[in-house]
Amino acid sequence: MRILLVEDEKRMAQALCELLRLERYEVDHYDNGQDGLAAAESNIYDIVILDVMLPGMNGYDIARSVRRQGITVPILMLTARSELDDKVTGLDSGADDYLTKPFMTKELLARLRALGRRTLGATDGILSFADISLDTRSLMLSCTSNGQSVRLGEKEYRILEYLIANSGQILTREQLAVRIWGFESDAEYNNVEVYMSFTRKKLAFIEAKTEIKAVRGIGYELRCGDV
Ligand code: CA
Repeated sequence: MRILLVEDEKRMAQALCELLRLERYEVDHYDNGQDGLAAAESNIYDIVILDVMLPGMNGYDIARSVRRQGITVPILMLTARSELDDKVTGLDSGADDYLTKPFMTKELLARLRALGRRTLGATDGILSFADISLDTRSLMLSCTSNGQSVRLGEKEYRILEYLIANSGQILTREQLAVRIWGFESDAEYNNVEVYMSFTRKKLAFIEAKTEIKAVRGIGYELRCGDV
């Protein structure tokens, strides 16, 4: 799960990044409205956490702009005040949930788990596509038609998770690279190909009919051999 955090208070941001990474989320952090909006518009995140008062552009305007572009990523708004108006404005602008600062980390993590389940469409931690299922906790990949399974490496898991969550769409190499390695990384596009081939081998190993198809010049897509 990759989370975008847009928060300008340094200490708050640092603490949140540490907490989320401990919980095995991948986090990209921006401290102002413009950069936050640009990152949100890349549409590579599972969840966006937006502070309301930000330099440059406020959280409401970011949420509105993201929604206007048809991006459906769950948005959690952090508001410093507890007035009802803020909450209503937040939800009206397209946020899915809000938390009033200060909040308990337990509360934040619970909200994130709920939003994350919605993104992935996972039922009881299991993601499914055609004849494969993926356990989001144990990272076990199984073929539902023959019962064979294999454990995925972290990156293989992330690739498949992303492909399943976006099934029916072609994901570009750039989207995959940024999603798996982040904006800051110097990962080359051929890293994507290397891990893509590992992931394909795991699918072949369990004899699944589901395959990762390369769409020439564009990217990758999950397809089931039956179709
Ligand atoms: Ca702020």
